[in-house]
Amino acid sequence: MTNKRKISILGSTGSIGTQALEVIEKLKDKFEIIALSGGSNVELLRQQAEKFKPKYVCIGKDTNQKIRIEGVEVLYGTQGLEQICSNKENDIILVAVSGKIGLRPTLTAIENGIDIALANKETLVMAGDIVMARAKAAGVNIIPVDSEHCAIHQCIKDISQVEKLIITASGGPFLKKSFEDMKNATVSQALAHPRWNMGRKITVDSATLMNKGLEIIEAHHLFNMPYDKIDVVVHPQSIVHSAIEYVDGSVVAQIGLPSMHIPIQYAITYPERFEGIKSKSFSFSQIARLDFEKPDYEKFPSLNLAYSAGKTGGSATVCLNAANEEAVFAFLDGKIKLYDIYKITQTMLQNHNIIKSPTIDEIFAIDEEVRLKTRELI
Ligand code: NDP
Ligand code: MG
Repeated sequence: MTNKRKISILGSTGSIGTQALEVIEKLKDKFEIIALSGGSNVELLRQQAEKFKPKYVCIGKDTNQKIRIEGVEVLYGTQGLEQICSNKENDIILVAVSGKIGLRPTLTAIENGIDIALANKETLVMAGDIVMARAKAAGVNIIPVDSEHCAIHQCIKDISQVEKLIITASGGPFLKKSFEDMKNATVSQALAHPRWNMGRKITVDSATLMNKGLEIIEAHHLFNMPYDKIDVVVHPQSIVHSAIEYVDGSVVAQIGLPSMHIPIQYAITYPERFEGIKSKSFSFSQIARLDFEKPDYEKFPSLNLAYSAGKTGGSATVCLNAANEEAVFAFLDGKIKLYDIYKITQTMLQNHNIIKSPTIDEIFAIDEEVRLKTRELI
């Protein structure tokens, strides 16, 4: 990059967002930050703004907190996010908010021809057809941050020669636990992920393997790959981040330490590469072994639920995402057991009337309706 790349981060106060700022700090001469946005952690947002001196910050969640930072314009709410994503000064926007809040700003950035580093998987699960079609029409790059998709992005040279995608899953904290232990797990057991330190919602999804389910849908949209050509393999060490098999039987995998700094850096510097925080830290001789096994679909039925919703398509994945998220929140609030997340999501999907090609407004309406009904069911 000869000139500094101008970047904004939506969700800079989250797990991905804070790691992205660590990457940028290491590559300070490569980036200029246009905007940072947080949800309700206003104090952290202020500290980030004072350190990184963006032009704008946005306090995303409705809150009465107002802040003043010298030289920084403060924006608020979804309108603020829209303003950031309409600002054509940006070369790239990292969408690292959690949940459905990521969808509209992503579409706005696409409309404005701004490339996207996409962490927020809900955007593709809810509206992958629309998002990818609009990005293609606008000539906008969507570079995946999710480590598996980032791995696949690095492996693919020519998608037309790819036979299948092989997505790895760590298996989460219950891989070696009994079905009974998993069903009745406490919140702290579900949050104790053996490999990755992430936000709470995605960590619970990793314990049920719904995260892998959402990733199958994400991969389907990103790489335009039919669901029967997307496999999942459990790989507890999280060293192989995913792989692809070419038509000639050659398999190409991307490997590295389990650290989100690497995929975040890849996505925001693409197509260039630079020495980063985790450079020179990988050693084959320090890896004792790599294990692989088939996922246990009976113990982790959420994975099949996601395959089935993905294949159904249309609003099914909107329903899947909304019902699962509400159930995860209820689990985190201590209202239901871990296994109930699956049962509730399954019931919601069974009762859902599919709309084949929903518009964005319909997607949000369905999302709201499903959430309401899921809360009633809970
Ligand atoms: P976190 O919960 O750690 O962070 C979420 C971010 O979004 C925070 O900055 C939060 O602000 C902000 N936010 C939440 N709600 C709102 C809102 N209503 N308006 C504006 N901002 C809001 O999540 P993660 O960083 O773990 O994940 C972010 C996304 O990336 C998710 O979609 C996740 O699936 C995906 N992802 C994450 C990975 C990881 O390793 N963490 C790996 C792959 C994908 P605040 O905290 O200030 O309230
Ligand atoms: Mg992932």
